[in-house]
Formats: sequence, structure tokens, C-alpha cells
Amino acid sequence: MADTIFEYAPAPESRSIVDIKPSYGLFVGGEFVEGRGTSFKTISPATEEVLAEVAEADAADVDAAVKAARRAYDKVWSRMPGRERAKYLYRIARIIQERGRELAVLESLDNGKPIKESRDVDVPTVAAHFFYYAGWADKLEYAGRGADPQPLGVAGQVIPWNFPLLMLAWKIAPALACGNTVVLKPAETTPLTALLFAEICQQADLPPGVVNIVTGAGATGQALVGHPDVDKVAFTGSTEVGKAIARAVAGTSKKVTLELGGKAANIVFDDAPIDQAVEGIVDGIFFNQGHVCCAGSRLLVQESISEELLDRLKRRMSTLRMGDPLDKNTDIGAINSGEQLKRIRELSDLGDAEGAERWEVACDLPTKGYWFPPTLFTGVSQAHRIAREEIFGPVLSVLTFRTPAEAVEKANNTPYGLSAGVWTDKGSRILSVAHQLRAGVVWANTFNKFDPTSPFGGFKESGYGREGGRHGLEAYLK
Ligand code: NAD
Repeated sequence: MADTIFEYAPAPESRSIVDIKPSYGLFVGGEFVEGRGTSFKTISPATEEVLAEVAEADAADVDAAVKAARRAYDKVWSRMPGRERAKYLYRIARIIQERGRELAVLESLDNGKPIKESRDVDVPTVAAHFFYYAGWADKLEYAGRGADPQPLGVAGQVIPWNFPLLMLAWKIAPALACGNTVVLKPAETTPLTALLFAEICQQADLPPGVVNIVTGAGATGQALVGHPDVDKVAFTGSTEVGKAIARAVAGTSKKVTLELGGKAANIVFDDAPIDQAVEGIVDGIFFNQGHVCCAGSRLLVQESISEELLDRLKRRMSTLRMGDPLDKNTDIGAINSGEQLKRIRELSDLGDAEGAERWEVACDLPTKGYWFPPTLFTGVSQAHRIAREEIFGPVLSVLTFRTPAEAVEKANNTPYGLSAGVWTDKGSRILSVAHQLRAGVVWANTFNKFDPTSPFGGFKESGYGREGGRHGLEAYLK
């Protein structure tokens, strides 16, 4: 990126650690099988190189996967004592650690995220989730669901592309710990790490059918959530599709959890440690190219410090290194798909049209692949669409406030309610503001911190149900 103080020599991670097959089938009943439907290509968004051809599961494939999950549930998994299920989960967690480098490289290739994030955040958190829920498998009577809580049955799980492996872990680890079996559908642009996870299930000798992976797009997801023999639907993705799923399962006995979009406020008061706040703002919106449901995409800064804070923020943004996701120095990788890039461009253009002022890091974008520079908009009002809609990219909307009451009012003025950040030196102000924010997670003097022991989930159009922690077990027990 231009204007950096000094250049880093390239430090690319080798991709030879990953063995990507030319084509992949579906993982059903413990084996890879050919799909009956068509297939699609998954590409590297950084280069547009085709990585593999992947089966697109049709309704009959989904039915076979649900049947395999039902058999495994009835015959093996629901009958197995929790302490035995725990052994499999521990084994999976350890294999994830052992194969961590391979998983991280594959995730960065298929998703476009920087290797330092997939290696240092995604994969370790994935392993931590399996370790954490392995610990619960034989202690479910302490989950707060009575003395003898029971699993629900077969879970149909649909996940997005922004954290492919991490969302898989959030879904599969608690489901299995509670004695459910699963059919999981990864997103169509990022199926590869879920398929590598299927290999890990084989390596861990997980009984066939306990985990099934069906790849495909919206129609495959629809067939899965609408399947009559699915007892539980767990969905992470856009609010629009979440609403369609809620309508599809209404009137059935299926239990549902929905983890949807967000438009989080990151609130910086005038007494905040400014350099730390700048780091938190950068982490909040540019981590994972802003493809984060809980991204701090609305910066609310107290008017008296806004000029100074914006100066420092722009200076910091100018040092972000954008480029090859496999380079260990890269801070900002590729946008996950051409479709997502189009949406980011459209909403940013709307910001210009509505009168906000765009500032972006001056840098040469690679000529191949999907790229968008770290960008901020000032002069944003609450009515602007860039202040209301989820852009899901590296674009920050900056608003100002004068009093804590105004900050809270603006922060809550959104249809979403997934997360928020508060930056101030005063503990009492943190408690008071956090208490008034309608958001599932409030970070104080930090942002984007994830831990398997803490529940995560939204208010309002950000969805319902919690994942993570003891609360995450409730979604998979009756
Ligand atoms: P998306 O809703 O388009 O797709 C999500 C998944 O649903 C994909 O696997 C897709 O194939 C599938 N799908 C699409 N239509 C379907 C249908 N009719 N029935 C069943 N499945 C269907 O979302 P996306 O673009 O992949 O992901 C981005 C969205 O996910 C953002 O809005 C983001 O905020 C949200 N997200 C939320 C969380 C959270 O925990 N709240 C976490 C990550 C991402």
C-alpha cells in the first residue's frame, strides 16, 4: 500500500501444505459421495483462480443426508453416554490444532481473508469451541435445563461465508455435545474448509452420519431447512434470508435459532484513550475486510474530539497493508465475491449521492480478484442508508454526538442489535451506557473479542437465540 513508512518484504505462507482436490462430492453417512445434482466452482477471491469443482446438493441429496443423520441419531449418538461423545469432540479439537496450518491456508484461499487472521483468530477459536463443548458433553444436567435434558434430534444448519470454519464450529460443537446429529450446509463461495472438516471427522472415527455436509447454494439450504425430518434449524446469515426461513418453519414443531445481520455502533467518548480507541475502531471495521456481522460499522465520536480522532484514524488506516491473503504481513485481504464487491460499491456510491464525504486509503488495488480499499464516510446523518444498512465491507460511517444520552439514542436507532462498543476512561459510564444499549454484546474499551464461554446473539432484526457458552446449549436441548 502506498505511503507506508517502510516496506515489508513479502512473507507468503506456502499453499503446498493443502491438498485441494479437483472436485468434491458430498459428505453423507461418513463417506464422500457424488451429488445427484449439478456442480459449481469455488474460486480464490484474491486471484479468481478456480480452486475446485463442488457438488451442488439437490433435494434428494439433502434427503439422503437427513436420513443418514436420523439413523446415526437413533442408533448411536443419542444413546451414547456424554462422556463418550466428549472423547470424539476432544479428538476433533486436537486434530484441528494439529492440522491448523492446513485449515488456515485453505480458509484464506477460499475466503480471501488474511492468513494472520485465519491462523491466529479463526482456527484457534474453532479448536477452542470444540474443546469447550467437549467439556459440557457429560455435564448437561448443569446446563440449566433440568436434571436430564434431552437432545432435539437432527439439526439442519446453514452458515455464511465470512467465517466458514468458525461458524461451522459454533453450530456443530454444541449440537454434538448435546447428543444431536447434524446436516450442515456451508456457503456456496466457501465450501472447502467444511469439506476438510469432514475428513477430520473421518480421521477422528466419528460414527458415520453424526456429521453430514451438503454443499450448494440457497436452494440446497431451502431443501434442508424445509425437510420434514429436521427437528432443529440453526441459521447464520442475512436478515432477509433469516426472515424467509422463519416464515418457512412457522407452524412446524422445528426449533429455530437465527443469527443475522448488524450495524453496530462503536461509541468513543472524549475521555477515551485515543490511540487504543483508534486500534479498536480499525479492528472493529477492517478485521476480515468488514465481513463481520458484529462489525463496528458506525463510529459515534464525541464532537469535541472528532477532528483529532479522525486525523489519527486516517493516519493509522494509511498503514494497513492490503494484498495477498497468504502473505503473513497482510492486514486486509480480498472481498469474498464479485457479488459482495458490487454491493459494497453500490452502497458506498449511495453515500456519495446522499452527500456524505468519502475518504479512502490511497493504494494500488491488485488487477485480478475482488478488492475494496479501507474507506470512511464523514458528514453522515442517521437517515443516510450507509448509516442504516449493513454494508458488510471495509466501510465506516462516522457520526458525532455531544452527550451520552444522544450517543445512546443514535446507537439504538437501528433495526439491528447485535453488538456495540464503548470507549471511555470512566467505569461508571461504561456500565450506564452498556445497560442502555439494545445490543446482544457490548465491548468496553475493546472490540471483536470472541470466546467460546460467552454467549453471542442479537436483539431485533439481528435474530434470536444465543450461541456460545452455557446459553448455546439451550438451543440444542429440550
Ligand atoms: P445469506 O443469507 O445470503 O446466506 C447465508 C447462507 O444461507 C448461505 O449458506 C446461503 O447459501 C444460504 N441460503 C440462501 N438463501 C437461503 C434460503 N432461502 N434458505 C436457506 N438457506 C439459504 O448471507 P451471506 O451473504 O452468506 O452472509 C452474510 C450475512 O450473514 C450478513 O448479513 C451477516 O451479518 C450475517 N452473519 C451473521 C452472523 C451472526 O452471528 N449474527 C455471523 C456471520 C454472518
